[in-house]
Amino acid sequence: MQRRKFIKETLTGLPILLLPASLLPSSCTESDDNGSPGEKAVIVVGAGISGLAAAKTLKEQGFNVIILEAQHRIGGRLRTDRTLGVEFDEGAGWIHGVNGNPITTLARQAGMNSVETPDDSRKSYDKGGRLRSAAVYDKAEEELYTILASMKTNGSINESFQTVFTTKYPDKANDRLWKFLLSTYVTFDTGDLNKLSSLLYDEGEEFSGAEKIALNGYDTIAEYLAKGLSVQLNQRVSAVNYSKNKVQVTHNGIISEADYVIVTVPLGVLKANTIQFTPNLPMAKQNAIQKVGMNCVNKFLLIWNTAFWDDVQYISYTPEISDRFTYFLNVKKFRPAVNALMTFAYAEYGRQTEVLSDAEIIHEIMLHLKDIYGNAIPNPVSMLRTKWYTNENAHGAYSYTAVGTEMQHFDDLAEEINDTLFFAGEHTEVDYFSTVHGAYLSGIREANKIIALQ
Ligand SMILES: Cc1cc2nc3c(=O)[nH]c(=O)nc-3n(C[C@H](O)[C@H](O)[C@H](O)COP(=O)(O)OP(=O)(O)OC[C@H]3O[C@@H](n4cnc5c(N)ncnc54)[C@H](O)[C@@H]3O)c2cc1C
Repeated sequence: MQRRKFIKETLTGLPILLLPASLLPSSCTESDDNGSPGEKAVIVVGAGISGLAAAKTLKEQGFNVIILEAQHRIGGRLRTDRTLGVEFDEGAGWIHGVNGNPITTLARQAGMNSVETPDDSRKSYDKGGRLRSAAVYDKAEEELYTILASMKTNGSINESFQTVFTTKYPDKANDRLWKFLLSTYVTFDTGDLNKLSSLLYDEGEEFSGAEKIALNGYDTIAEYLAKGLSVQLNQRVSAVNYSKNKVQVTHNGIISEADYVIVTVPLGVLKANTIQFTPNLPMAKQNAIQKVGMNCVNKFLLIWNTAFWDDVQYISYTPEISDRFTYFLNVKKFRPAVNALMTFAYAEYGRQTEVLSDAEIIHEIMLHLKDIYGNAIPNPVSMLRTKWYTNENAHGAYSYTAVGTEMQHFDDLAEEINDTLFFAGEHTEVDYFSTVHGAYLSGIREANKIIALQ
C-alpha cells in the first residue's frame, strides 16, 4: 500500500506536459531491440481517458503511438451529448473531490469549466409528496456514515452488503428513507447491494474538497488530450497475439504489429470475452476479470418549457422501490436558462430501464414528480437517456468490489505480461477505481512502465 502510494504521487507529479513533444511520424514501424523510443511502436487499444493519457505520455517521450478505437468518436465513458442545446454528460459528470485531483489541473488546461453542486442544498420527499424534515434526513445521513464506517466488522468474504445490513438492521432495511440512502450513497458509487462485498464496500481512496460538475462537457478533456495523437476510429480490436516478439493486434480483419500494446477496454468488455488473447491471459488475470464487479448506472436528462420544482440542487423522493428515479439533480441551479432535471437508475433496475421505451421511462419518472408536485405538472418536452449495460463498448458503468473481490484483483488486472502487453483503465487502479482520475492515472502508470523499459 505504501509503495503504491509513493508511486502514485510520483506519477501524479510527473511534469508530463513539460516533456518535449515528438516530431516523429505516428505510425507503427519496425524497430530493433536497442532502438530509441522513436523506433518503438506502441498500439493503445481504446481512446478513453486512460488510453489517451497513455498515448500522450508515450508520444511526448518520442514513441510511435497509434490508438485503435472501436467507436466513431474518442472519449469512451467521457461522452457529451449536445443535441438538446445543453451538455448532457452520459458518463462521468463530476470531478470527485477537487483538492489534489489530477483532473482539476487537467480540466483547467483543457478549458473544462465546472461548478460545485452543494450536497446540503436539498429537499427530501416521502411517498404522498410529504416533505421530510431536514432534521430527520440529516440524522439518518449521519447514522448511515456511522454504519458504513463499522459494518464491515460484521462482513464476511461470502456475504453481500445486503445480507449483512438486513441481518443487523432489519428495521432499516424496509424503511423508505433508508432504502433511498443506501441506493444513493452506496449503490450509485458501487453496485447492486445483493452483489456488493460486505467487507470491501467502502474501499478506494478519495480526494477531499468540493464535488464539481462539468459545465461545458467532460469530453472537453478527451479532446484536449487527443490533440496531435494518431487515433484510428471505427477500429474494433478482436484479437491480441502476444506469443511472438512483436505483439499482433487484429482490428477489422487487419493485423497490426507493435513492440508494446496497452489494452484499455472497460472491464465489461473483458468480461464479455470479445477480444481473443493468444496465449490465454494468465489465470490470475482471468480470475480478476471474473471477480471484480461491473455495475450499471443510467442517466436521464428531462427538459421542460418551464420549471415547476424546488429551487434546490437535489430533490429526493423515497418510494418503496430502490434505485429507481429517486434522486433529481436540478440542472437549472447551475444552468439558469435550462429547465432541466437529471435523474438516475442503478443496478438491476438500471439494467431493466434499457428495455423500456422512452414513453415508459417518462411515465415512471412522472409518477414520482406528480406525487411531489401534483398531477397538473406537464410532461417533459424532451429526454435523453443512456444504456450503459447493453453498450457493447462498455457493458456497464464502472467497476466495484463484488462478493469475492479481493483488492489484489485490481493489481492483477493491472499486471503487465512479458513486458510487452500492458493494461490500463479505471478497473486497474486499486486506489481510485471507478473514477475518471483513476482511469487517467492508470494510463500514465502504464506509459511509465514502458518508458522505464528503454
Ligand atoms: C454513467 C456514468 C457515470 C460516471 N460518473 C462519474 C463521475 O461523475 N466522476 C468520475 O470520476 N467518474 C465517473 N464515471 C466513471 C468514469 O467515466 C470512468 O471511470 C472513466 O471514464 C473510464 O475511462 P477508461 O479509459 O478506463 O475507459 P473508457 O472511457 O470506457 O475507454 C475505453 C475505450 O475502449 C473502447 N473499446 C471498447 N472495446 C474496444 C475494442 N474491442 N476495440 C477498440 N476499442 C474498444 C471504448 O469504445 C472506449 O472508448 C462514470 C461512468 C459512467 C458510465
